[in-house]
Amino acid sequence: MLDPKSWLDAAQATAEGKKRRVDHDCGGGRTLIVSNQDRKWTAFCFRCDEAGIVEKPQESLSARIARRRTEDEQDERIAAVAGLPEPIDTDIANWPREAVVWLLKASCGAPEIAQLGAYWHAPSARVVLPVADDGELVYWQARDPSWTRKSERPKYVNPEVNKERLVARYGSGDEIVLTEDILSAYRVGQEGEGWSLLGTNLTNGVLARLIDERKPVAVWLDPDAAGRKASRDITQRLSACGIPNRVIRSLRDPKLLSRRQVRIELGLNTPARAEDS
Ligand SMILES: [Zn+2]
Repeated sequence: MLDPKSWLDAAQATAEGKKRRVDHDCGGGRTLIVSNQDRKWTAFCFRCDEAGIVEKPQESLSARIARRRTEDEQDERIAAVAGLPEPIDTDIANWPREAVVWLLKASCGAPEIAQLGAYWHAPSARVVLPVADDGELVYWQARDPSWTRKSERPKYVNPEVNKERLVARYGSGDEIVLTEDILSAYRVGQEGEGWSLLGTNLTNGVLARLIDERKPVAVWLDPDAAGRKASRDITQRLSACGIPNRVIRSLRDPKLLSRRQVRIELGLNTPARAEDS
């Protein structure tokens, strides 16, 4: 067996689920393969022709609570900073599986993730979506990709900024489509023009921006009770301001539809611009 002193540090510095080749203390040439597996760290050196294995300690309840507390503290810390939370990890090979899966469910693979500028923030265990306006960072949203209704921590963490005139805008088109979340606006922006309200509330500041745009507006919120109620409120206010508007109702959130389905809901019958799906 290889002495753990000669390889365990390297194995522990490897992303979970990954292996890599490094130098062993027997010489250069990266003869040592170390891996960080689900329940153990392992090593094998081709020159020494020996293996090593160390079982991982199972996380105790108190350890889990301590980790959670650290992540909560990170949530508070990052919400107070101007600029993007760091460190920024854009290499999806290092991300935990659930982070990649969350974006894949919204049809966002590596090219889309790069276009969005999405990245993994390990200290808070969240995916960060930056929001730019005219090329300037104005906001970001950090999502817990493992979040469920049973979670003890918030689904999103956001910086403490004035949201009055804030929207996340993607693409361009003859009609502005209002969505709840950033990924939905991004997906609409692949075909037309998507604006995320970052929730279901249309602020007076954003309403003023819509008036300035002089385009018809489609309201496409999520298909739940909150989305339906907000759609009614928003269309009433748009009509009161003389903005032509309509409501799009789909069976799922816009981000969960295929590009083809998005185009159908938008009433676009020309072929998709880039690769269709
Ligand atoms: Zn060796």
